[in-house]
Amino acid sequence: MRGRLFVMTGASGVGKGTVRAKVLERTRLFYSISMTTRPPRPGERHGVDYYFVDEAAFLDLVAKDGFLEYARYVDHYYGTPRKPVERALARGEDVLLEIEVQGALQVRKRLPEAVLIFLVPPSLSELRRRLVLRGKDTPEKIAKRLARAEEEIRSAHLFDYVVVNEVVEEAVGEFLAILKAERRKTPYM
Ligand code: 5GP
Repeated sequence: MRGRLFVMTGASGVGKGTVRAKVLERTRLFYSISMTTRPPRPGERHGVDYYFVDEAAFLDLVAKDGFLEYARYVDHYYGTPRKPVERALARGEDVLLEIEVQGALQVRKRLPEAVLIFLVPPSLSELRRRLVLRGKDTPEKIAKRLARAEEEIRSAHLFDYVVVNEVVEEAVGEFLAILKAERRKTPYM
C-alpha cells in the first residue's frame, strides 16, 4: 500500500504556508521539509522550516541525484530531498510538498501519479498587497516575486486542481475536500 503524493504550489505570497499549516493540523500527511540556500528569516529554524545549507552542499546533493525536484527561485536554490519522501510513500503515508511552480512540474514528470494543486490569489493587485504587508522582502525582491507570479499564474491549466485563496478557511476546506476525494479514488490501495 503506497502513499499518495500531494503537491501544493502557487506564487510566493499567495498564502501557501498558511494554508499548508492549517491543512496539516486537520489531516494526516507526511510534510516534506525542503532544503534551501536562502538564509533563514528571523524565527525560522533549521530542520523545521527548511534545511538551510550553503550552495556547495546543495549542488553536491544535486550531483548525487538527492532531490526529487529542485529549482532556482529568485536568488536561491530550493529542493525536495528525495529519500524521506520515497520512504514515506513506501510506508504507505500520504506526503505533502509545498513548492514553487517549476519544481511542481518536475515532480509531475518524475512521478506522474502526483496530485498537483495550484493555489492562486484572487488578483495580482491583492498578491502585491500581501507581499508588501508580509514585510519580509525588499521592494526589489517583491518586484521579482510579482513578475514570477504573473508568469506562474499563466500555467494554472497544467495542474490537477486550482484553489483560489481569497478567504483562508475556504481555501483550506477546498484543499481538504480534494484530499478526501483523491483518497476515495483508491480506498483499497
Ligand atoms: P520562501 O523563500 O518564501 O520561503 O520560498 C520561496 C518559494 O520557494 C515559495 O514559493 C516556496 O513554496 C518555494 N519552495 C520552498 N521549498 C521548495 C522546494 O523544495 N522546491 C521548490 N521547487 N520550491 C520550494
